[in-house]
Amino acid sequence: RIKSHQVQQGVQLMEGVKNVVAVASGKGGVGKSTTAVNLALGLAACGAKVGILDADIYGPSIPRMLGVSGKPTSKDGKTLEPKEAYGLKAMSIGFLIDEETPMVWRGPMVMQALEQLLGDTNWGELDYLVVDLPPGTGDTQLTLSQKVPLTGAVIVSTPQDIALLDARRGFQMFEKVGVPSLGIVENMSLFICPSCGEETDIFSHGGGQKFADDYGVEFLGSIPLDADIREQADTGHPTVVAGPDSRQAEIYRTIANAV
Ligand code: ADP
Repeated sequence: RIKSHQVQQGVQLMEGVKNVVAVASGKGGVGKSTTAVNLALGLAACGAKVGILDADIYGPSIPRMLGVSGKPTSKDGKTLEPKEAYGLKAMSIGFLIDEETPMVWRGPMVMQALEQLLGDTNWGELDYLVVDLPPGTGDTQLTLSQKVPLTGAVIVSTPQDIALLDARRGFQMFEKVGVPSLGIVENMSLFICPSCGEETDIFSHGGGQKFADDYGVEFLGSIPLDADIREQADTGHPTVVAGPDSRQAEIYRTIANAV
C-alpha cells in the first residue's frame, strides 16, 4: 500500500485523487497495459477506490482490456464521466474514437488530449489513479511527470536484456524528473506448458531482480507467460476478475499490496 511515499508537490489537477501511480515500460508489447489493468483491479480487490487512465493516445488498449466502449457522457457539458468497469473508473481516448481509427496527431495535440482526459474527467474520490503510459521516454511521460503530482512509477519489463535496457532508460528518466520508482514487475518471466507443466524461461530469467538490485528499487514480483492472461486481457475479462481464485490473480493482488 502506498503510505510511505511522499506525493510530489505539483499542479493539483485532480482534487479527489489521493495517489497517482504511473505504469511504465521501456518497450512496447511487454505487458504494461495488462499489468496496469490487473494492478488497478488488485488495488480495488484490497478495498481501494481506483481509476485507470489510458495515457497511450496513439495505441489505447484499456477499452478492449476492460471490455468497455462507447462515448463517455457529460453532466455539465464540460467534464467527462469516466466509464465504469469491474468497479474501476476508466478513461481513454479509445472511448472517443473508433477502435480502428489511427490518431494521426502531432505531439502538441496529443499532450492537449492527455491533459483533457486527465483533468476534465470527473474522477470523484479515488485512492489510486493508475496511469497506463505509452512505452518509452517521450512527451507523455514528461508532461505527466511535470503536470501531475505522481506518487511514483511502476516499471514493467520482460526479463531479457534488450527489454531491461529500455526499462533502465525509463527508470533514469523518472529519476531525472524526480518521480520515485515504486518498483519493477517482471512480466512473461516463465512459461509453464499447459499440457506437461514443464517450466521454460522463454525470455531468460532473473533480469527483474537484477534491475531491482542494481537500482535499489523494490522487486514487486514476476508474472508468468500464460495463455490465460493473454486471452483474459484481450477479451476484456482481466485475470483478477476472470479467475479471482487463480494463482495469476493472486500474483497481481500481491503486487498491488506491495505497491
Ligand atoms: P504493452 O502495454 O506493454 O504494449 P500489453 O499489455 O498490450 O503490452 O500486452 C501485449 C500482449 O501480450 C497482449 O496481447 C497481452 O494479452 C499479452 N500479455 C501480456 N502479459 C502477458 C502474460 N503474462 N502472459 C501472456 N500474455 C501476456
